[in-house]
Amino acid sequence: MDRKRSSILLIYTGGTIGMRQDPADQTLKPFDFKAILEEVPELKKFAIRIDSYTFAPLIDSSDMDPEMWRRIALLIRDSYESYDGFVILHGTDTMAYTASALSFMLEDLAKPVVLTGSQLPIGAPRTDGKENLISAVEIASTKDDEGHARVPEVSIYFNSMLLRGNRSTKVSSENFAAFKSPNCLPLATAGISIRYNDDLIIRPSSWDAPLKVHENLLTDVSILKVHPGITPPVMRHIICGQEIKAVILETYGSGNAPSADWFTGIVEEAASMGKVLLNVTQCPSGNVNMKIYSTGKKLEDAGVVSGKDITTEGALGKLFHLLGENEDLEKVKRLLGENLRGEISS
Ligand code: ASP
Repeated sequence: MDRKRSSILLIYTGGTIGMRQDPADQTLKPFDFKAILEEVPELKKFAIRIDSYTFAPLIDSSDMDPEMWRRIALLIRDSYESYDGFVILHGTDTMAYTASALSFMLEDLAKPVVLTGSQLPIGAPRTDGKENLISAVEIASTKDDEGHARVPEVSIYFNSMLLRGNRSTKVSSENFAAFKSPNCLPLATAGISIRYNDDLIIRPSSWDAPLKVHENLLTDVSILKVHPGITPPVMRHIICGQEIKAVILETYGSGNAPSADWFTGIVEEAASMGKVLLNVTQCPSGNVNMKIYSTGKKLEDAGVVSGKDITTEGALGKLFHLLGENEDLEKVKRLLGENLRGEISS
C-alpha cells in the first residue's frame, strides 16, 4: 500500500452542502461539484489525490432511496482498488438512513466510507460545510502505523465528531451539531488534532478479505410508532398488510406497549401471518428489554424480536438487507439478534 500519497474518491449526491438559492423561487437547489471544490481551496494543501464522481441528478436527500444506495455501493465496489477511502457528500435529512444501509451492504470493508454534508451551503459565510468536508477527507485518508485504514467503517463526520454510521441519528434541523449516536461513543473527535477511539473501531475479518457487496434489498417493511390513542384499525392497517414482510415496532421505554388484549391480539395476528416483528425503543438512548415489565413481556411472548439498542434507521437498513439476502424468515429473526456491523451493543 502506498503510504505517501493517499487517494480519495469524493462522491457527490446532493444536499445543502452543495446548494445555492434559486433567485426564481428563493428555494435551495444543488449546484455543480466544481463550484464546491472552488469554495474549499484548502483541500489542495493535502498531499492527497482527490477524484470526484457526481450523481445525476443531484438530489435533496429527501429523495434518497434504495436504488441510489445500490448505485453508491456498486460505485464503491467498482472503484475500490483505486482509492484509499471514500467521502460521500449527502444531505443531512436521510444521511443516517444511507449510512445504516451502506454499512450492511458493504461487508468486510477495509477502507473508510465517510458521509458528510452541512447545515449551511458551502458558499455561505458561516458554513459548517468546509470543516466537515476537510476533516472527512483527512479521516478517510488516514492510515495506521501498518498502512491500513484507521477507520475502515461506514461513518458520519459532522461538527467535529466521527460517528458510526449505523448508530447515528439526525437530532437537529437547526444546530451545527446535527447528529448523535446516543448508544455508541464517537469513533473519533476532532479538535486541534483528531483523536481516534481505536478500541471501538471495527476492522475487517482479515485485511486480505475481499469486499463483499450485498446489493439485494427487500423493502417490504413498515414502521409502527406506538402512541396513546392508537386504534385497532389503524394498527392492523400498518402491521398486517399482505405485502408487509417485517414491522419495526417503535415502542415506549424499554420496549413496552399497551397491555390491552386487542393490541396483543393484533401483534399475534401479524406474527401468525409470518411477519418479522422487531421491537425498537422510541427513546433516543437505551435498550429494549422485554423482560422488565409485563407490558413488554406480552410482546416477547407474542413472538416479537428485541432490537436491543439499535436505532430505527439501523433497524430499517438491517431488515432491508436481511430480507433481501434471506428467504428463511427464521434466519432473519436470528440474525436480527446478532451484531453484524456494530449496530447493536454486544
Ligand atoms: N434537505 C436537505 C437534504 O437532506 C437538508 C440538508 O442537506 O441539510 O438534502
